[in-house]
Amino acid sequence: MYELIKKKQSGLNHNKKEIEFIVNNYTKNIIPDYQMSAWLMAVYLNGMNIEETKNYTETIINSGEKIKFSTLEEPVIDKHSTGGVGDKVSLILGPILAACDCYVPMIVGRGLGHTGGTLDKLESIPGYNAFLDTKKFQKTVKQNGISIIGQTKQICPADKKIYALRDLTGTIESMPLICGSILSKKIAEGIKHLVLDIKIGNGAFMKNKKEAKILGNYLKKIGEKFNLNINYAITDMNQPLGLYSGIQCEIIESIEALKGNGPKDLMEVVFYLAETCLNMVKINKKKIKQVLENGLAYEKFLKMVHLHGGKIEKIDFNPSAKKIIKSKKEGYVSFNDTKSLGEAIINLGGGRKKIEDLIDPQAGFKLFKKHGDLINKDEPIAEIFCSDSNKLKLGEKKINKSIKVVDEIQKKYKLVY
Ligand code: URA
Repeated sequence: MYELIKKKQSGLNHNKKEIEFIVNNYTKNIIPDYQMSAWLMAVYLNGMNIEETKNYTETIINSGEKIKFSTLEEPVIDKHSTGGVGDKVSLILGPILAACDCYVPMIVGRGLGHTGGTLDKLESIPGYNAFLDTKKFQKTVKQNGISIIGQTKQICPADKKIYALRDLTGTIESMPLICGSILSKKIAEGIKHLVLDIKIGNGAFMKNKKEAKILGNYLKKIGEKFNLNINYAITDMNQPLGLYSGIQCEIIESIEALKGNGPKDLMEVVFYLAETCLNMVKINKKKIKQVLENGLAYEKFLKMVHLHGGKIEKIDFNPSAKKIIKSKKEGYVSFNDTKSLGEAIINLGGGRKKIEDLIDPQAGFKLFKKHGDLINKDEPIAEIFCSDSNKLKLGEKKINKSIKVVDEIQKKYKLVY
């Protein structure tokens, strides 16, 4: 391993055998975290070419099982985001697609860097088992159209380990590592079609459209090698999506969205991505509105939670520590550092600083204003909450850093690029 770290550090390319050696021995706990971290950093700095990335992706897939849904007649499709703050789209879009006659076997991850993870949010539903075995996962998808799980010991165990390590070693924003992580999960789950939501802006890993397009095309190219039909959208992450960001509060906002009460910005992104998905599989996009209005999408969500052992009625969102942050002056609200808002959630206990850290389901914040909104002196901008009053100060510091009140708004953000 030492030689392979030095090789990547010198900017040289790995062959398939070397990549298999690294990924497989790390997954089996033979290579220690400190050596894997060093290798990931070497990749972060020096990259991997298309061939290496394909081999890396394939090795992660082969670390576990690859599911087949070949007996299903309806399309098997999924959407995956590169990550953001308040990005709860999967929790709403997945059930919508299932209600529109698609099958959605969705494998998701935990929080990554400053971005939230669908897995952490789902696990805040009391009883929700996000680690169904492969048979039960397949059965749930067939029965309900949708099931959402995390990487398990059976599916993508290599990504499960590498993902957790990247979260804490500053090695997230690397095209080949993102590519291997996303595509391994999506290929192993057995889908035919994938829509990628590439987030850009001050709260995303990709900062602008140019970087997003490079990543999108890179993912498409690798996906093609595995017969995966990929489209990508570029959407905004210069401010959190919706009003709530955090853990359980995002589940509650998603439920409201499925009941037809979602905030405008969130629903615009959900609709855009749902249309992109349905276009790919030639299903009429009119269905999206129908399944939200007739409650079918919400039913799919409820049934999924039930089949995973979760109890919606036991959700008890009641943070013991709260603080309202008010504006010190009149002006316009400006979000200039959404990454810090994600870090605020980590400071409140909604993310990890060490691999073994436990998540506080009550952690998060609510926004009373969005970018460009007028605000008066002493009017609330946000409310932060969690279960530990000692953590409020750390969260507040980050919020104050990232939301400003200004006399003039310099930049307006589009939602879909
Ligand atoms: N989502 C993933 O699953 N992996 C990444 O590396 C980034 C986003």
